[in-house]
Amino acid sequence: MLDIAHTPPAPKVIAGAKQDWELVIGLEVHAQVSSNAKLFSGASTTFGAEPNSNVAFVDAAMPGMLPVINEFCVAQAVRTGLGLKAGINLTSAFDRKNYFYPDLPQGYQISQLYHPIVGEGEVIVEMGEGIARRVRIERIHLEQDAGKSIHDMDPHMSFVDLNRTGVALMEIVSRPDIRGPEEAAAYVVKLRQIMRYLGTCDGNMQNGNLRADVNVSVCRPGDYERYQESQDFSHLGTRCEIKNMNSMRFIQAAIEYEARRQIGILEDGGTIVQETRLYDPDKGETRSMRSKEEAHDYRYFPCPDLLPLEIEQAWVDDIAAALPELPDAKKARFMSEFGLTDYDASVLTADVDNAAYFEAVVGGGSDGRDGKLAANWVINELFGRLKKEDHTITETPVSADQLGGIVDLITKGDISGKIAKELFEIVFTEGGDPAEIVEARGMRQVTDTGAIEAAVDKVIADNPAQVEKAKQNPKLAGWFVGQVMKATGGKANPKAVNQIVAAKLGL
Ligand code: ADP
Ligand code: MG
Repeated sequence: MLDIAHTPPAPKVIAGAKQDWELVIGLEVHAQVSSNAKLFSGASTTFGAEPNSNVAFVDAAMPGMLPVINEFCVAQAVRTGLGLKAGINLTSAFDRKNYFYPDLPQGYQISQLYHPIVGEGEVIVEMGEGIARRVRIERIHLEQDAGKSIHDMDPHMSFVDLNRTGVALMEIVSRPDIRGPEEAAAYVVKLRQIMRYLGTCDGNMQNGNLRADVNVSVCRPGDYERYQESQDFSHLGTRCEIKNMNSMRFIQAAIEYEARRQIGILEDGGTIVQETRLYDPDKGETRSMRSKEEAHDYRYFPCPDLLPLEIEQAWVDDIAAALPELPDAKKARFMSEFGLTDYDASVLTADVDNAAYFEAVVGGGSDGRDGKLAANWVINELFGRLKKEDHTITETPVSADQLGGIVDLITKGDISGKIAKELFEIVFTEGGDPAEIVEARGMRQVTDTGAIEAAVDKVIADNPAQVEKAKQNPKLAGWFVGQVMKATGGKANPKAVNQIVAAKLGL
């Protein structure tokens, strides 16, 4: 499979005024755990609820309230770890990260600094057929999200909405293995894809359910290889961290800008100051937010309200046994089982909902439909049409059953490809059972050779001059085929028409 066959893409090289530079990028992705309740309270996590309506006493930091760990959120983190082929730590622990957060009234965030629940894993990021980067995952820890401060509702006051306060987040920390802006975006896309398959994060970036802190440094060609061999960070440049990116486009633009900024400083003989920066999408620039804090700035200490988290190997094994088929495996299976191209299999597995739809159309076992034909209809007709309407697959007016019905009619030879497109449009706009529509509207393909012969005879009888020309120039037979198709409303079987026309014209 993929893991063995791929070669790594070349790193992005940026030519400075004096020399070439390479990019080194590591991401800290904050993924909101899909769960009905928060990490340490029973309050709902529903997005878009009335402000401050999903707040338990402990979320509001009422005195004496104690956090109680949500087992489901723990299972989601374990599931995510397993999906990233990571080690699961049977003992992990929570720490307090002390900080003034206006939207987290405790005055600290409960996180996992010293003993995270998930250890080292990997993500394979495909950058083209057979080209992929293996990005190592350093750790995943569970932590609480903060609420939201709202500054644009009143000219004099700020408001706070605590609905998101205490919602479970997974912080997924990569090693600095990403070597270009496109790779960084592709890495986030791949993580999101895997988590959506796992059902552990819905990955909705607009709602802020997936955000990335992007660490960028530059180094000279050869330095990264020296780092790889020794794992000694001193071979790498000093990094800056760009906080809270929630768009693939901005991630790329910010990296591009940041790399050039750093190169400019270095080539002028300056040094990079490690700091936290913000990206301004309007100006297309990053700017300094604060100097980088170290762990000791947060006065981390073990959270006295929570016991170390101990889970059992058998419980982890149960979760592992119930993992769904993941994107890489599904893509490989679509290629081998249905003979799909790399491209088609990628498109169909890009999102878990797309893949489920295709699988429902193609069906299973011996009575399954032709995979290539089904893929063609799902990708070219359905996806194309949905895109036109700006709909996602979950909003499709054509169910997998209905599209399967259309594919069946083509396979049986009841309708031609051309008529199938008309039928698809009817089902898309009006709904209905494809087979019934074909009967009711007389769309069935004419395969009855008697009827086709009669139509051919008529065209020949009506056009003696054309017949003479066609006998000189056999290419003109196509004109007769066209006339017959027209006369039969496109329903004649094109293959039969071609044969009969050729025979009758004596070609
Ligand atoms: P901190 O805890 O100070 O944020 P970490 O060691 O956890 O530092 O690293 C945070 C992120 O920065 C990780 O994703 C890591 O891969 C990335 N990173 C570390 N060094 C570099 C570097 N020189 N260039 C780019 N990214 C880096
Ligand atoms: Mg960090």
